[in-house]
Amino acid sequence: MTTVTATSVRPWLDATLPVEERIDLLMTEMTLAEKVGQTHQVANIDPDADAPEIAAGRISSSLYASGPTGGNERDEGVLVGNIDAAQRHAVEGSRLGIPLLFGRDVIHGHRTVCPIPLGIAASFDPDLAEEIGEIAAREAVVDGVAWTFAPMVDISEEPRWGRVAESLGETPVLSGRLAAGLVRGFQGDDPSDPHRLAACAKHFAGYGLSAGGRDYDTVSVGENTLRNLHLRPFKEAVDAGVTTVMAAFNDVDGTPMHAHEHLLRDVLKGEWGFDGMVVADWNGIGQLVNAGVAADLREAAVLAIRAGVDLDMCGGAYLAHLEELVESGEVDLALVDDAVRRVLRLKFRLGLFERPYAARPGASNAPTAETRAVALRAAQAAHVLVKNDGVLPLDASPDAGSVLLSGAFVDDGDALLGTWVLDGRGEEVVTPGPALRERLGDRVTVADGRFSDVTLMQARGAKTTVMLLGEHRSRSGEAQSVVDIGLPPGQLEVLRAVAAFGKPLVAVVYTGRPLDLSEVLDLADAVLVVWHPGVEAGNALASVLLGEVEPHGRLPMTFPLSTGHIPTSTHQRPTGRLIRADVDHEEGRYIDALTYPRLPFGLGLSYTSVDYGAPVVSSPTLPVDGSVTLTVTVTNTGDRPCREVVQLYFRDPVAEVTRPLVELTDWALVDLEPGQAREVTFDVRAGQTAYAGRDLTTRVDAGEIVLLTGPDSARLQPVSVTITSPETSS
Ligand code: BGC
Repeated sequence: MTTVTATSVRPWLDATLPVEERIDLLMTEMTLAEKVGQTHQVANIDPDADAPEIAAGRISSSLYASGPTGGNERDEGVLVGNIDAAQRHAVEGSRLGIPLLFGRDVIHGHRTVCPIPLGIAASFDPDLAEEIGEIAAREAVVDGVAWTFAPMVDISEEPRWGRVAESLGETPVLSGRLAAGLVRGFQGDDPSDPHRLAACAKHFAGYGLSAGGRDYDTVSVGENTLRNLHLRPFKEAVDAGVTTVMAAFNDVDGTPMHAHEHLLRDVLKGEWGFDGMVVADWNGIGQLVNAGVAADLREAAVLAIRAGVDLDMCGGAYLAHLEELVESGEVDLALVDDAVRRVLRLKFRLGLFERPYAARPGASNAPTAETRAVALRAAQAAHVLVKNDGVLPLDASPDAGSVLLSGAFVDDGDALLGTWVLDGRGEEVVTPGPALRERLGDRVTVADGRFSDVTLMQARGAKTTVMLLGEHRSRSGEAQSVVDIGLPPGQLEVLRAVAAFGKPLVAVVYTGRPLDLSEVLDLADAVLVVWHPGVEAGNALASVLLGEVEPHGRLPMTFPLSTGHIPTSTHQRPTGRLIRADVDHEEGRYIDALTYPRLPFGLGLSYTSVDYGAPVVSSPTLPVDGSVTLTVTVTNTGDRPCREVVQLYFRDPVAEVTRPLVELTDWALVDLEPGQAREVTFDVRAGQTAYAGRDLTTRVDAGEIVLLTGPDSARLQPVSVTITSPETSS
């Protein structure tokens, strides 16, 4: 007698089989309609209204899950309740029982909100990024989320673009390493770990170049620049094992990314061997019609499936047309099979067939002491001290005089969470006012959040004023571009009036983008750029202001002198007419302003001073397949400890194409006690100088390379090495 078991009826449920075999077994059972169903993602799935479609196998995935208020409701359990209810229709009610995949934007924390990604980037710490990814994953799975749409690795030198807040900065190596850290954190060694999520590198590619910083705009860029800059962090995320990639809304030189067969199919899936899933961005396939490259949704479906978009986010183009397109012979079944295979591969890799339901239904995922400790370290690491005339750290002794804490964010938790927060709660944020009061007691006066004459009177009476300036979280992020990167209206007026009292003045800048801080830097005695720090905002600020921890963040984006100076970044390439700092006044690019940035990439001060020796290399020659070591001695010459970010850049003086004037290639986080000197050693491989040449193949040139070390991109000391014996590989 034969026993009927789940695996004899559905052999793909045998988890001991290799994933590819399980996919084969399942796909031979699938009708074309069921295959097409696997390419369709909806928003806010409704377990009741969508039950028939789910049971018919016509929905593969949902982003968010619906509840009474449309999916972003904050009542414990509603999200998970809906997710599990919808899942039950798929697993128990559909013919093949293929589980649904639930995605959600868990970008910089789920409930325990950490700094915005640009603030995470300021830490220069991939291990910290990994910890942040891990706690986010642990919390999100409790709500039934299996997949996050992060990390975002769009390289941008465009602070008007609101989405720089979501980015990991302007340089490919920093962005790539932090992205790899986040991917490791979200996915772990194996995404089937019940406490981990699938990650998504987005938005592929070139989105950071949106014309004029206007979100969703067109992009004009050549493939050489794409390869030498914009594609690199994606490659790093793919090498780190990211399971999904999201297509970008923009076009690249006329071809919208959702129709970009060359970049998606040839480069990402072909050349790089990416075997994961490509998801459309929100209605990105449908928007091919708006972009004027498809006459209708049917044609859009053809373009996108050919290009290699596997899952249609909220557009409905695939569900409406793919079946008929295959039957009419206009779309090759192999293309649909490839997309379905990639979707199923992800579902198997995530272990959804084994564990389709929320990891711990009903369990709490509210911030704990442990997760807050990670968020606090991350928020502290995001604090970048860009000016200090000696007013910081504040004297914590009881008789050190009064402190006025004033400005828009003293007690506004929600404002400090940052962009893309679906599950964090403003009331769970420790705000600056209470945090400072807890430490300084009566010495501190917390002014009403609004600037007013009262603020001025209080500032006149206080020994020191700490002004909280900058942007509310809603002023950066998706669709939040600005034409002027100055402070929001009104803030400078108050700062000027307070500065006129001539007393110690500290400016703290909350922001999702580089701002024009020129006047702030002139008026304040100390300036801290702190981004949007998340749930531990207040504790992080108070601890840095009072010197309980040393500031150690570094700017992950250049701060231009003004809006008119955009773009300004480290990846500026040499031109026929060089601009040098010493001749900028006479021969700069503008007749009405200097050309150099206001705050360079990599800048960040501490409460001590650090001296850099000249870099020394172990050998003047560097074999093309070998490495040299570079050593630099850093000495803490002050009387406080510090965490120095020792930075290594290079310049390739002669290459086949123009190469950046300086490019960050490595760095080391080095703790120094007062008076301590340490030798910091970097292994430098010739391969780190690889670039795409005129024929777009990757090469390492023989010849001179200038290696540069220092505390930021503007204070560097050089040493040259010569790369010997050329190699060209494609
Ligand atoms: C954004 C993506 C996001 C998606 C889903 C889109 O509008 O561009 O970054 O992941 O929505 O929320």
